[in-house]
Amino acid sequence: MSRTLTRSRQLQQRAEGFLPGGVDSPVRAFRAVGGDPPFVTRAEGAYLWDADGNRYLDFFGSWGPMILGHAFPPVVEAVCEAAARGTSFGASTAAEADLAELVTRCFPSVERLRFVSSGTEACMSAVRVARGFTGRNFVIKFEGCYHGHSDAMLVKAGSGVATFGIPGSAGVPVETAMHTLALPYNDLAAVEAAFEGHPGEIACVIVEPVVGNAGTIAPGAGYLQGLRELCTRHGALLILDEVMTGFRLSLGGAQELYGIKPDLTTLGKIIGGGLPCGAFGGRAEVMESLAPLGPVYQAGTLSGNPLAMAAGIATVGYLLEHPSIYAELEKTTAAIAEGVVAIAREAGVPMMMNRVGSMFTWFFTDRAVENFEDAATSDTAAFARFHRAMLDAGVWLPPSQYEAAFVGMQHGMVEVEATLEAARGALR
Ligand SMILES: *Cc1c(COP(=O)(O)O)cnc(C)c1O
Repeated sequence: MSRTLTRSRQLQQRAEGFLPGGVDSPVRAFRAVGGDPPFVTRAEGAYLWDADGNRYLDFFGSWGPMILGHAFPPVVEAVCEAAARGTSFGASTAAEADLAELVTRCFPSVERLRFVSSGTEACMSAVRVARGFTGRNFVIKFEGCYHGHSDAMLVKAGSGVATFGIPGSAGVPVETAMHTLALPYNDLAAVEAAFEGHPGEIACVIVEPVVGNAGTIAPGAGYLQGLRELCTRHGALLILDEVMTGFRLSLGGAQELYGIKPDLTTLGKIIGGGLPCGAFGGRAEVMESLAPLGPVYQAGTLSGNPLAMAAGIATVGYLLEHPSIYAELEKTTAAIAEGVVAIAREAGVPMMMNRVGSMFTWFFTDRAVENFEDAATSDTAAFARFHRAMLDAGVWLPPSQYEAAFVGMQHGMVEVEATLEAARGALR
């Protein structure tokens, strides 16, 4: 299939005159895989169309939200109806408690929650609440986990820096980063050592219960349970960042799947059905330290926005009414993810595949991937070639080795076959 991108290329050049890199979020620029990023004009079900009329099978689903597929009629209708009544009021509406009730039904650990407009805000605010509630400053996070782009969360461990974080981004003061301890994922001994090294100083542990932002990495047996026990023993709060996994791995996210009760949970992506929305919530006692009840400040002009609430209620409501979706997603995703691994094996291409539910990653490495260091052994040049070949064949994967791919409800057997066919050509 020959694909022209004349119009997309023009649109990218125009955008570069106004937006840094032509984008509003860096990965969209395709720097990691090369080639021209297609400009999207519309989407429906499992497919995207670009400005040159090319059609793509979508495996990134707006980076997670589109579990029901694009332009899903019940969601579109709910948003249109809400928009006709007004797009924002800055005053309370019934829809906020309606969506909150649905969320608490899915996540029993969430007794109180607050809506925000992104996953970044959800994580930033959850960490602030944890610090305010405990009166402690240090935060433990894990290498390769992403919790949005707030200053304190943009920290990876530097090679020589076991205890104090270094800024992962220019513009993050060392004074901020030094309170974030970045440890290897799936390593309980490292967490135990950090608690012992900072007695009474660690406010919380924040973790992607299944990592998606280093590519997909599952927690080892007993890992999440171990984090829960260490937090309890040391008086720190456990924050499960379920921005990606919430409503994705099951209705109740990873905490339902693995039977873990966190103190706080952060949500985003699916909860807004494709509109800007996030939430953080958990134990009532902890959440009630938020203003106006308590001393921890947090606010938002568009928080609980009526369009976002309408899309969220339509999406989460649909999932609640159709719980069998998850078994279907499991089957479709396994067929795609394992099918391509078999093709790679035949072609002699080293590939490790990690999958949990409908999120998965094909790592171009022969090493089992259990943490970021393992993921970083991937041949990213080979991934980039694979990405370009798949895109040319009409299959749009996330444009980086270190991202999870997603399957949605509208991916069926036709899409499984199309993906395997594309991969046969690409891996040759
Ligand atoms: C996407 C993501 C975030 C950030 O959410 P934004 O809406 O992009 O700000 C935080 N945590 C995890 C686990 C994510 O996947």
